[in-house]
Amino acid sequence: MNTIIQRIDPENFRDEELQEACSILQKGGLVAFPTETVYGLGGDALRQEASAKIYMAKGRPSDNPLIVHIADMDSLRDVADNVSEEALQLAENFWPGPLTMIFKKREKVPKSTTGGLETVAVRMPSHPVARALIRESGVYIAAPSANTSGRPSPTKAEHVREDLDGRIDMILDGGAVGIGLESTIVDMSTNVPTILRPGYITKEMLERVLDNVQVDPAITAKTMNPNIVAKAPGMKYRHYAPKGQMTIVEGESEAVIREINRLVREKKQEGSSVAVIATAETEMRYVCDHVKSIGSRKTEGSIAAGLYDILREMDHIGAEYIYAESFEQDGLGKAIMNRMLKAAAYHVIKV
Ligand code: AMP
Ligand code: MG
Repeated sequence: MNTIIQRIDPENFRDEELQEACSILQKGGLVAFPTETVYGLGGDALRQEASAKIYMAKGRPSDNPLIVHIADMDSLRDVADNVSEEALQLAENFWPGPLTMIFKKREKVPKSTTGGLETVAVRMPSHPVARALIRESGVYIAAPSANTSGRPSPTKAEHVREDLDGRIDMILDGGAVGIGLESTIVDMSTNVPTILRPGYITKEMLERVLDNVQVDPAITAKTMNPNIVAKAPGMKYRHYAPKGQMTIVEGESEAVIREINRLVREKKQEGSSVAVIATAETEMRYVCDHVKSIGSRKTEGSIAAGLYDILREMDHIGAEYIYAESFEQDGLGKAIMNRMLKAAAYHVIKV
């Protein structure tokens, strides 16, 4: 299959530029497109063949459900049942934006889209290209991240191409995305709204709107504990991972730098290729051929936005061992560390 690559300027485009993408979606084909979180791989959420193609292109396990992207509130009622007052309040405050909510699904949403579940995940994205694509195509777009299953999520069209060129109909290249981490997922189908995946919308932000919000224990687990079953099926897979073995070193900054330099020396002596994931504040302190800064600790947003690109770069370098600094788990840091711990398969050294 030849994958069409079309550039589009998110700040300045006409809806007509999306004609071909819309027609692909309407015919049941697949289009990767930018959202404010990461690039999504879109297909018609109400057509079983379309979601089957998504699973096939990504190599995604079929029990890992897709998020349905909509552009207005009428569409929410069309796909979701039992939408609570609390859910409407969250929508009012955070939609369009990086928040996904889980509801009981309506009959018309095929189980192929929901990974066999009776619930459906719904999000109203804020990215102008994503919004226009949903509106102009008239399609509810099922869209998981546009990467090969298990690889870091794509934050640039180039990442999508790396994974899916020749496997999907089209990539809309709208440049680098803004947030760089997947949406926060909140289960609204249970008694107490429950965060199943941390993201840009933090627990504190949700608590400004709702009195009671809980966190799925699988998120805070420090290890891959087989006794804790993640409610979001996607969270159970090793995810966001570079090919090399990644270790996070935790502790006071000077001690972390010393320990990482020691580990790098050790691995180099063994003849292995090693890389360090540092920050703008520390990158000069490491003695290693490959030292990459994710961003500045002063702006957590830059760390979130740079993380997946750096994880992919580790593969380009061919790093067999990767040592990374760790981050405070407050606010956005919670989402950042959640993704990093998974990338490192929970390998953590404390110093
Ligand atoms: P992705 O868009 O690739 O980040 O994947 C979507 C994520 O949403 C996966 O981790 C799924 O497990 C989660 N998800 C989608 N639908 C549901 C659902 N009905 N219940 C729980 N989690 C869901
Ligand atoms: Mg994903």
